[in-house]
Amino acid sequence: MDSQIIISGGGPIGNYLASNLTGCSVQIMEEHSEIGKPVQCTGLVHPRVIELANAEESVLNAIKGFRLFFPDGRMVEVKTDETKAVVIDRCRFDNICCGGAKKAGATINTDSKILNFKRENNELIVNHLTNGKKSEIKTNLLIGADGYKSHVGNCAGLGCAKEIVRGIQADLEITMPDQNIVEVYVGKEVAPGFFAWILPCGEFTRVGVGISKGNGIPSKYLDRLIEKRGFGEINRSQIYSGVIPIGYPKSTYADNIMIVGDAAAQTKPLSGGGLYTGLQCAKYAAETALDAIDSNNYSAAFLSAYEDKWRSEIGKELDRGMIVRKIFTGMSDKKLDEAGKLLDKPEAKEILATGDIDYPSRLARPMLKAVPSLMKLAPGALKTLLLGR
Ligand SMILES: Cc1cc2nc3c(=O)[nH]c(=O)nc-3n(C[C@H](O)[C@H](O)[C@H](O)COP(=O)(O)OP(=O)(O)OC[C@H]3O[C@@H](n4cnc5c(N)ncnc54)[C@H](O)[C@@H]3O)c2cc1C
Repeated sequence: MDSQIIISGGGPIGNYLASNLTGCSVQIMEEHSEIGKPVQCTGLVHPRVIELANAEESVLNAIKGFRLFFPDGRMVEVKTDETKAVVIDRCRFDNICCGGAKKAGATINTDSKILNFKRENNELIVNHLTNGKKSEIKTNLLIGADGYKSHVGNCAGLGCAKEIVRGIQADLEITMPDQNIVEVYVGKEVAPGFFAWILPCGEFTRVGVGISKGNGIPSKYLDRLIEKRGFGEINRSQIYSGVIPIGYPKSTYADNIMIVGDAAAQTKPLSGGGLYTGLQCAKYAAETALDAIDSNNYSAAFLSAYEDKWRSEIGKELDRGMIVRKIFTGMSDKKLDEAGKLLDKPEAKEILATGDIDYPSRLARPMLKAVPSLMKLAPGALKTLLLGR
């Protein structure tokens, strides 16, 4: 055996996973030449993510509230005294996770792409292209932390995300006057099937848009938002784009295989955030991997413990998020405006102020209690949400 565990993908989740695998031989294969690049993320996370990854050094700014803009121009503002989220430098964050992986003993191979694998005698022979040379390596367990396209998940027949959202963002050389407030825009003209954001990051401002499939080119929406917000003349220091997978696949394990993070579409369906959920799932993947090594059992039946664990931790939230996402994407701009009117009430804002970006569905019950007329916007789906586990 060349390595007990191979992790395909040196993103934050692959590295964090490896940092939880002390005591066994682990190799990370990352196709890019540098960890943390290219950045494909806004970097807005709950402070608990920083704690999990021990990544205080990556924090750029703190967010304490939001302004939510509806298609008719209505703005619902919610301000709190609490740090609801922080903005991180994603490249720095990934490198901190990678430091954890190295400390735990993992070998990090960059310029190293997993090509394919085959199963023989209860182990895997993994073909990879490293520094331009094709080679093979034997392992007991291959974990795909290889992002939304997950080659590992596809080759293992695990299925793919239910949908994808395309995102694009630009860092503008402008400082927002209110550094603790994120602006969010919804509506078909601004960001069909998702939302747009303006995030203060100290000396620069991150403006981004996500759109669901079939709605044209994301950059068109970004340019329009930048223009509309009066930032057309401001220099764009960086532009990033990426894809957010939404809706986890039918399975996240097979014989000698697990998938985790974006590879398993373990993202929050409403916001597309995948760092918190991915890190949580990586912890369970690591626990299951260590148990598999102890028991010398890498069968699908044994590895199913991983899926049981992550589902019991965040499965309910992801399922509820999918219901709310379905309601949201089914709403016309007129309906969104109706929702805006109802949310622009003190009793609704009071509930919104208690929100947690990692558990947005927890707001559903108290919100519908405080503003029962919201129910008429999607009676069937909201009833399912209220009656759900
Ligand atoms: C526009 C945008 C904004 C976002 N904003 C936020 C946010 O504010 N907050 C938040 O929590 N999340 C956000 N996300 C989601 C977040 O970026 C992802 O959930 C996170 O990056 C998932 O990490 P990962 O390690 O699973 O996958 P990735 O970060 O995609 O890493 C996978 C790695 O695997 C490598 N790889 C792929 N195939 C192979 C192969 N065959 N061999 C070797 N290496 C391979 C890739 O090169 C990559 O480095 C955003 C995403 C986008 C696109």
